[in-house]
Amino acid sequence: MKNKRFINIFGKAKKFFFIYYFDMVSFQCKNDGNCCKKYWVPLTHLDIFRLHIYGKINDLINYIELHEYNEENSRWKSIIANNTSYYLSLKYDGKCIFLTNDGKCKVHLFKPFACRFYPFEYEVCGNKILIDVNEQAKKECPGLILDNSEIDKEIQEKLKKLARIRLKEIELWNKAISEWNKDKIDLEELIKFLMRKAKEDYQYLLSKKLWVM
Ligand code: SF4
Repeated sequence: MKNKRFINIFGKAKKFFFIYYFDMVSFQCKNDGNCCKKYWVPLTHLDIFRLHIYGKINDLINYIELHEYNEENSRWKSIIANNTSYYLSLKYDGKCIFLTNDGKCKVHLFKPFACRFYPFEYEVCGNKILIDVNEQAKKECPGLILDNSEIDKEIQEKLKKLARIRLKEIELWNKAISEWNKDKIDLEELIKFLMRKAKEDYQYLLSKKLWVM
């Protein structure tokens, strides 16, 4: 397993209701690409579907890998084979496969949801979604300025909306993975299966006005 961390979009569920304080922060992305070198990016079938339909990527297998990872209490269902938990992620070789040499993201407009939350993250508290700053990002993201201002309301609202859609997509992912449940993983076969499920789920999300590019 590669020695790299994941972008925490598995989401955390708090069991109890706490009074919650937002971190004091301003944010302006510096596009330094640092986060795209440090973390592996987990994918749902719908993240992959966006790469396929908007990025016109047909040879998906060249961009995706299986990532062994055990996350207790994850809201995401892992793919289990030989008693090992796997997730799908973007290929990583010292940096994300979509990071260009000048620090840009080749799939910026339809990048995986995990990337869209960083350097923030969401938490679910009862029926509320709260946006906070990722702890690790506080130490390493040059775009964060801890200046005692509340997280911009616009950013909060945008990320809350995205988190609600994300939670629905994870629910659909979990259903798809429950159907898959094979003991051996053939990545090509798995991607084909997930693309079939994604097409159905895409139609469903469109009908509920929950689809985003
Ligand atoms: S998909 Fe784009 S934003 Fe996400 S890690 Fe890769 S290069 Fe960075």
